Amino acid sequence: RGKRAFIAGVADDNGYGWAIAKALAAAGAEILVGTWVPALNIFETSLRRGKFDESRKLPDGSLMDIAKVYPLDAVYDSPEDVPEDVKSNKRYAGSSNWTVKSFDKYNSLLIGQEVAESVKNDFGSIDILVHSLANGPEVTKPLLETSRRGYLAAISASSYSYVSLLQHFLPIMNPGGASISLTYIAAERAIPGYGGGMSSAKAALESDTRVLAFEAGRKGKIRVNTISAGPLGSRAAKAIGFIEKMIEYSYVNAPLQKELLADEVGNTAAFLVSPLASAITGSIVYVDNGLNTMGLAV
Ligand code: NAD
Repeated sequence: RGKRAFIAGVADDNGYGWAIAKALAAAGAEILVGTWVPALNIFETSLRRGKFDESRKLPDGSLMDIAKVYPLDAVYDSPEDVPEDVKSNKRYAGSSNWTVKSFDKYNSLLIGQEVAESVKNDFGSIDILVHSLANGPEVTKPLLETSRRGYLAAISASSYSYVSLLQHFLPIMNPGGASISLTYIAAERAIPGYGGGMSSAKAALESDTRVLAFEAGRKGKIRVNTISAGPLGSRAAKAIGFIEKMIEYSYVNAPLQKELLADEVGNTAAFLVSPLASAITGSIVYVDNGLNTMGLAV
């Protein structure tokens, strides 16, 4: 049978998560996505109304099918973690018709472990786990001005969320499967403007990639890698404020002077989770037109 992938962090057709979903679908995988609860209604409505049909087109002319969309909030692991004001927030108390057990109890909010449980109930197992999400409420603030709360929130949403996802999904991942996340060069080099502890969160994610590769490799024969992607004008990136500048900087300074397409990251993801990459684990793979190799702006 074909492989089954769960991709966390798809809420429109602009980001890396969407491009990865498409590349995996084109390679024959069945696609499940996890969408942040506040963005869920609009995403599902847009899907249903055909707003994404143009960008659902695969190379063979067919449309990517998303077998199921799961509501996901990566900052809570168990029901007790959800604060009252979030439970009663009307964006969470949406009008959807999900038949998940959280629906009545938690105002439609489905959290970490429950997502894995739901996927298990619906499909039994998965082969591929993709983490394509990040959030740093103080990302526009320099690190020197970042609060403890903002810093920890960035780590919670952008780094621990991956530990939690893999922790909960590993038991339902078939041996030989693979997982990937998305990181950014700001983990290793100072990128002024990528603040609020987001650089710290990516550094944690990269370090965790090595440790998780060891643990998940030994425990479940699962490979774990991360893609260090170049700048893309996604919704999340636009919130940071200087993405156009970064794209321009890359164009001017990278070895390959061309636009970086989300599909190029999607294709790399498809390679990394495929048997073609069967000996690659614990790695950071750069998909950035080579920008990371430069030591001098030209
Ligand atoms: P995106 O907006 O497509 O994806 C980010 C997703 O995270 C969104 O769908 C958002 O709804 C989701 N999200 C935020 N908080 C969440 C939470 N608490 N629970 C669940 N979902 C949550 O933007 P993107 O730029 O494609 O980001 C995908 C990944 O790529 C991120 O890890 C990002 O850091 C990384 N990345 C992006 C760039 C870039 O320039 N865009 C560069 C390198 C790495």
